[in-house]
Amino acid sequence: MSYSKETSLILDSTRGNEHLSSNQPLYYSSTYHQQTLGGNAEYDYARSGNPNRQLLEEKLADLEGGQYGFAFSSGIAAITAVFLTLEPGDHVVLPDDVYGGTFRLTEQILKKFKIEFTTVDQTDLQQVKAAVQDNTKLIYVETPSNPLFKVTDIDGVSQIARKNNALLAVDNTFMTPLGQSPLKLGADIVIHSATKFLGGHSDLIAGAVIVNDPQLKNDIYLIQNGTGSGLSVYDSWTLAKHLKTLPIRFKQSVYNAEQIYRYLIENEAIETVYYPITSDTHLRQAKNGGAVLGFRLKDESKAQAFVDHLNIPLVSVSLGGVETILSHPATMSHAAIPEDVRAERGITNGLFRLSAGLEDVKELITDIDWALKEATYESKKSIEEPHFSS
Ligand SMILES: *Cc1c(COP(=O)(O)O)cnc(C)c1O
Repeated sequence: MSYSKETSLILDSTRGNEHLSSNQPLYYSSTYHQQTLGGNAEYDYARSGNPNRQLLEEKLADLEGGQYGFAFSSGIAAITAVFLTLEPGDHVVLPDDVYGGTFRLTEQILKKFKIEFTTVDQTDLQQVKAAVQDNTKLIYVETPSNPLFKVTDIDGVSQIARKNNALLAVDNTFMTPLGQSPLKLGADIVIHSATKFLGGHSDLIAGAVIVNDPQLKNDIYLIQNGTGSGLSVYDSWTLAKHLKTLPIRFKQSVYNAEQIYRYLIENEAIETVYYPITSDTHLRQAKNGGAVLGFRLKDESKAQAFVDHLNIPLVSVSLGGVETILSHPATMSHAAIPEDVRAERGITNGLFRLSAGLEDVKELITDIDWALKEATYESKKSIEEPHFSS
């Protein structure tokens, strides 16, 4: 019997769990007894495999509708594993606004091993096509992108990849497996920073890779085991439990993001709101706009004043938590980019990114509204502090 994602994420008692406990026990062992010398024990050493990581990896594969899942010690470790399937002389096409940590990995580490990279604006398929070379082995996509929510046509890029015998990898962190299914759209590899929505509680760092091809499965496993980058037993156990609430968390966060979007587009203190439901391409390949949006203040000098008057959101890097997280790309995720380049790319002081959490959305909007008014109106005295009734 095959179950829906919601049901199957919750069922620990019937898979990999001899005691039928509601949650799989924590197997906090580095090594396993081998009674038969040279026998075929299911587990021998925890880096190579253990029940907690295995259960998690099965759940991750199910979630993405893929055959094989792998859990890594971070999203960046997952991305590294994908790039390590390449060889010196291989070429990769990257988006020009790729996640900062991925850019650092390619620029400062992988280039030393003679892997070549070209970055293009992947919203334009012609640019992707033009960037492909004879030695292109991988096209790497992130959609919607960060922090301006540019959308790339996954199916369109997958056709370019296929024609050129290259693989397509999609970083699906922002949409989660519930909002977008890249494997069904032609991707060969799906990557997640499980630190974000999959974990959802801002309490662990983890990554995931999901593939269908058995050869790719062997390649990724060799790297996971051979470089020791698999997720720890404890974090695997924690993440497998957090996944049980992913469907309901994501649903509520998307709802909250939609309400905040509707509020922000009507607000005169806001210059632009970035949320991918305005993109036809996005709506063709995703179920909703996701739970993260961007917005730009009309008066960019009021960024600090806006933050000063907020009470609910955590002002921080990261996203995908039960708490609403407000990020400021110019001073956080994109601070390493020179200011003029940042300005060219629209990452200015007035730009914020908001990851909607699970708080009461009316209270969130009241809080944001109060902070925008306080920050941007000249006469403050006429505004009353908000009152939250429960
Ligand atoms: C956070 C993030 C990563 C990196 O993941 P870590 O778990 O922090 O290593 C990669 N891609 C995207 C889109 C992210 O948001």
